Amino acid sequence: MAHCISLEAEKILDKQFKVLDKGFIRLVDYMGTDERIVQSARVSYGKGTKTLREDAGLIDYLLRNKHTSPFEQVVFTFHIKLPIFVARQWIRHRTARLNEVSGRYSVLKNEFYLPHPEDIALQSTDNKQGRADTVLPKEVQDEVIASFKDRQEEAYEAYSRLLDKNIARELARINLPLSTYTEWYWQIDLHNLFHFLKLRMDAHAQKEIRVYAEVLFEICKTVAPLSCESFVRHQLGGVNFSKDELAALRNLLDGKDAGLSQKDLDRLNEKLKTGRQL
Ligand SMILES: Cc1cc2nc3c(=O)[nH]c(=O)nc-3n(C[C@H](O)[C@H](O)[C@H](O)COP(=O)(O)OP(=O)(O)OC[C@H]3O[C@@H](n4cnc5c(N)ncnc54)[C@H](O)[C@@H]3O)c2cc1C
Repeated sequence: MAHCISLEAEKILDKQFKVLDKGFIRLVDYMGTDERIVQSARVSYGKGTKTLREDAGLIDYLLRNKHTSPFEQVVFTFHIKLPIFVARQWIRHRTARLNEVSGRYSVLKNEFYLPHPEDIALQSTDNKQGRADTVLPKEVQDEVIASFKDRQEEAYEAYSRLLDKNIARELARINLPLSTYTEWYWQIDLHNLFHFLKLRMDAHAQKEIRVYAEVLFEICKTVAPLSCESFVRHQLGGVNFSKDELAALRNLLDGKDAGLSQKDLDRLNEKLKTGRQL
């Protein structure tokens, strides 16, 4: 069967979804939908799409059993505008193809990320990579934002002065901060997008990349809604249990002692209560 079209995705093609203060995500193009996953999974015995219910069941079976290759048949191209510090985390996902704006070729725009005052937080004491939940006084929030803004303005003025002296763009840019916005085209298939979303929609991911992941997921639902439902059911909303944890759960079901150390038991409890993998 030729092109698979999703009417919901067609409606949002080229539409910019705002992310952070100046960023966005735009779905440039897509290839395949849930239908393509079903077609490619059934190719071995020559049958295409059946009823929606059967298709949903097949997709759920494939995802549940990690038959991932049919999900690679669906491909997305996004245009994304994001701060460089978010881009550095993003680029760690190697299973995508991308083209980024060149600071050697183009003059970079005077656009920097400034967090919302409510996002200014202290270092977390329990999560070494994260922020604490305590709300800071307004004057502290404002002071931090003003400091970010001043340094960004200084850095851009210095950059502009170097360009005025005809210093090479590839050098003039090197003192611009990580908050500078960049843009790229990013192409990824659905299997690898799910992997990205699982990691970057998680509460442990930095908020500034998480908000991009959440928008990507909303866009993804317009292209492959059945797959997204299965993804939430089995991957995003699920957790893995270790061999010892499974044994402990069996023990508990049999009314026996879990047989785990207190630390391991706490970890298992946390998983069961919150779905969080510690
Ligand atoms: C909350 C969080 C905190 C993090 N903190 C840090 C940190 O402090 N420091 C740091 O350096 N990184 C950090 N990372 C990045 C992390 O270690 C991974 O590099 C990133 O999440 C990409 O994951 P991935 O390699 O599975 O994804 P992808 O690159 O998309 O790869 C997907 C899968 O393909 C396979 N694959 C891809 N390329 C190869 C290859 N060359 N060889 C073998 N298999 C391959 C692997 O199975 C991999 O899981 C963090 C990530 C998260 C989500």
